[in-house]
Amino acid sequence: MTDTVPWDYAPAPQERGIVTIAPSYGLFVGGEFAAAADGRTFATVNPATEEPLAEVALAGEADVDRAVRAARAAYEKVWGPMPGAQRAKYIYRIARLIAERAREFAVLESLDNGKPIKESRDVDVPLASAHFFYHAGWADKLEYAGFGPARPVGVAGQVIPWNFPLLMAAWKLAPALAAGNTCVLKPAETTPLTALLLAEVCQQAELPAGVVNIITGAGETGAALVAHPGVDKIAFTGSTEVGKQILRSAAGTGKKLTMELGGKAANIVFEDAPLEGAVEGIVNGIFFNQGHVCCAGSRLLVQESVADILLDRLRRRLGTLRLGDPLDKNTDIGAINSRQQLDKIRELSAAGETEGAERWSPACELPDRGYWFPPTLFTGVSQSSRIAREEIFGPVLSVLTFRTPEEAVAKANNTPYGLSAGVWTEKGSRILWLAQRMRAGVVWANTYNRFDPASPFGGYRESGFGREGGRHGLRAYLDA
Ligand code: NDP
Repeated sequence: MTDTVPWDYAPAPQERGIVTIAPSYGLFVGGEFAAAADGRTFATVNPATEEPLAEVALAGEADVDRAVRAARAAYEKVWGPMPGAQRAKYIYRIARLIAERAREFAVLESLDNGKPIKESRDVDVPLASAHFFYHAGWADKLEYAGFGPARPVGVAGQVIPWNFPLLMAAWKLAPALAAGNTCVLKPAETTPLTALLLAEVCQQAELPAGVVNIITGAGETGAALVAHPGVDKIAFTGSTEVGKQILRSAAGTGKKLTMELGGKAANIVFEDAPLEGAVEGIVNGIFFNQGHVCCAGSRLLVQESVADILLDRLRRRLGTLRLGDPLDKNTDIGAINSRQQLDKIRELSAAGETEGAERWSPACELPDRGYWFPPTLFTGVSQSSRIAREEIFGPVLSVLTFRTPEEAVAKANNTPYGLSAGVWTEKGSRILWLAQRMRAGVVWANTYNRFDPASPFGGYRESGFGREGGRHGLRAYLDA
């Protein structure tokens, strides 16, 4: 796919046989898998090939109700009264089982989501396991977390997106369980399979029935879950638009809420930055996971004096990225998760051209089947352009320039979002100066997309509110 690499790599396929995908899956409610009450199902497909992977039960209102009741019963009779040290044992077991079955999870994630195996294997799955390990440690120490006397909230209704299916499930379930809540989780319609494998792990860990319930379905299933009067706490990760709908439906109900929504992060490169490192950080910031990342560094702000040299190096680096089979261990860019998302990326990229920005992609052959989009760079982007303002959620980078640090801050903050930002400079004082002025929940310095279960993550303004991870994330699941 490239004109700058002198040889091609031999294929290095990950063995797919480690995973057995059943022809159909039920809902996981009260510790058992069962069909939806009205028998409806939907198909989940491999976005790299468009091959159907399995039929999955589509939960309707009756199923949502059954799941919330199962969670309530488990909360009142088993999980709520259980001592923290006992709860910790189960959470540790889940963490260990994810680690033991890591390759199986990674292959299944890449098949259902389209992300490269090296990312699901080295990032998603280890971080998911780490999240359970970290929170298991909190389960018997809540009284030392500094919140004063704290009780669990009760039943958590959790709705997650398709970009990090297993990892988002872990971000939601682990703190909720550690704090003594029970859960009903709805994975995204296009990526239900690793959440269902996690349900199997809950059975294997002998987690008491009803503590974790996993209901698959589309947006209506999510809407029914968050509107259910038996849900005490809503945790949502997804688009700002759906986040606003949920906020409207929850207004006045007294439900506790956390919202992790979209972003349009600035990755800011100053002229004194180590440019080779910055190039790697830019690539990681926007091309990791095909750019399907809420905190993606989708706007590059580069100081004018180094713009030409940086862009030259960036184009050369993009020429070495390998796009293709997500199960090939050499693949850097996998498939776009769905036809719908591909259409959105195409539409916004076309708008970028219409609005006068210059579009560039490396020579790159796209597979005939499946959903694919090449790594793409837009230069000459104006701040008012749609590609500078809207979340594209794809492998598309918009490049803007600045002359002074003040201009960098003004441009970076010129967005309704406020989730994350990156800064590249060798001056520590400049990092601190800039971080204080950025309206973003996370600011990475000379790195990008770093995650740790102990570190809180979350946004401002249209990027949502509340934090996940660390002590702050735990608080969201406590009535403290
Ligand atoms: P959504 O916000 O629609 O989906 C997120 C989750 O919410 C999914 O499980 C979805 O179910 C569910 N959902 C949809 N409608 C409702 C509702 N009314 N009430 C409760 N839950 C609901 O994101 P999309 O997948 O449609 O992606 C659209 C755009 O959102 C993307 O192009 C991207 O820009 C952005 N996005 C941002 C994310 C982020 O982390 N910041 C993550 C995902 C998307 P279902 O999958 O069945 O629709």
